[in-house]
Amino acid sequence: MDHFNLRNGELYAEDVPMARIAAEVGTPVYIYSRATFERHAAAFRDGLKDCPRVHLAYAIKANPNLAVLRLMANAGYGADVVSGGELERALAAGMPAKDIVFSGVGKTRQELAQGLDRGIGQFNLELEAEGVALSEIAAARGQRAPCVLRVNPDVDAGTHAKISTGKAENKFGVAIADAPAIYARLAALPGLDLRGVASHIGSQLLSVAPMEATYHRIGQLVADLRAAGHAVTRVDLGGGLGVAYRAEDRPVWPDEYGAMVARVTRDWDVELMFEPGRVIAGNAGVLLTKVIWVKPSPANPWVIVDAAMNDLARPALYDAWHDFVAVKPSGERFVANIAGPVCESGDTFAKARDIDLVKEGDLAIFRTAGAYGATMASTYNSRALVPEVMVDGDRYAVVAERISPKTIMDEERVPEWL
Ligand SMILES: *Cc1c(COP(=O)(O)O)cnc(C)c1O
Repeated sequence: MDHFNLRNGELYAEDVPMARIAAEVGTPVYIYSRATFERHAAAFRDGLKDCPRVHLAYAIKANPNLAVLRLMANAGYGADVVSGGELERALAAGMPAKDIVFSGVGKTRQELAQGLDRGIGQFNLELEAEGVALSEIAAARGQRAPCVLRVNPDVDAGTHAKISTGKAENKFGVAIADAPAIYARLAALPGLDLRGVASHIGSQLLSVAPMEATYHRIGQLVADLRAAGHAVTRVDLGGGLGVAYRAEDRPVWPDEYGAMVARVTRDWDVELMFEPGRVIAGNAGVLLTKVIWVKPSPANPWVIVDAAMNDLARPALYDAWHDFVAVKPSGERFVANIAGPVCESGDTFAKARDIDLVKEGDLAIFRTAGAYGATMASTYNSRALVPEVMVDGDRYAVVAERISPKTIMDEERVPEWL
């Protein structure tokens, strides 16, 4: 459930008319609902109420806006970060360093050192060489880096290939069959404090089955590691819960997920860590856009909106579906294609979709755009970087300014020899 609803025939974000935001901030613009974020943060935590020791690390790549991170910090969440840049964001938003987990298959030595400098709570190692490097860097400083080993369980998450991460062919983690030997070698290194294992099999999962299969494999691995004499105190179960992009999507509710986790992990006796991203942010944001033209065509008309693939990349990247709804729907509908102004045929949000009838100048939203939306935006075609707004009851704040093409151009240089 979200807080983007019709009231007296027009769409509101909480208690703010979206038309007001369009008039005052312009379009395209992302709109986030504080109440929705907080509801999701609480629902995910509540779902895990039967798990005794839980650490929540919001996967900030889903939506790293500083205001969002502050909200999540206030809700008691740490962060799962995947770059030095994200690490600095999490700290800047007030997340305690000890609550930060550093994931990612390509952490550089400089980023590993940065994590040690900042005193983060955990490194999730993706390969043996990374652990060796981290040990060297930490030992040279007289430190032991808290870490876990990410394993690839070879489970098909049943999601889009580009957001699947737990198959043997994916780049993430070490093969689960190799994990015991690698774990033993890493555990012996002087600069590491190896505490357990991690896995994350993909995103937008709409069934518990692949997660449950993964957790059973992880449970067996934990038992094997203990039998080999290792003290396993932490298991990071990753993120990946899906959200409903379409009316017929049946996401896994946090309660159902939490009940499965509690059942499968009952005897593990570890601190469980979670890295939810999309399930927190997805339905907490929409992208507000304005119709530039409705262009006739031999097949369906083209609704050309002022948002484009540079603002919301998911349809172009993953063939993703985002519901399109008029801000002041007339009740009439038509079948149309929806596209942005960018000069790529891939800049198409929908084909032959039954949508609210819109005309030039009308406002509309793409729903469920709070995760992997603004954070993937670019300035392709010399378009502005899309702004972000957060609504709180009857007030709102611009939480990221629109960055103009001029500002970006000002950072470029023409060398004197041209
Ligand atoms: C992206 C990512 C997540 C979050 O995934 P969601 O599907 O957004 O929940 C969690 N952990 C890791 C390691 C990731 O790369």
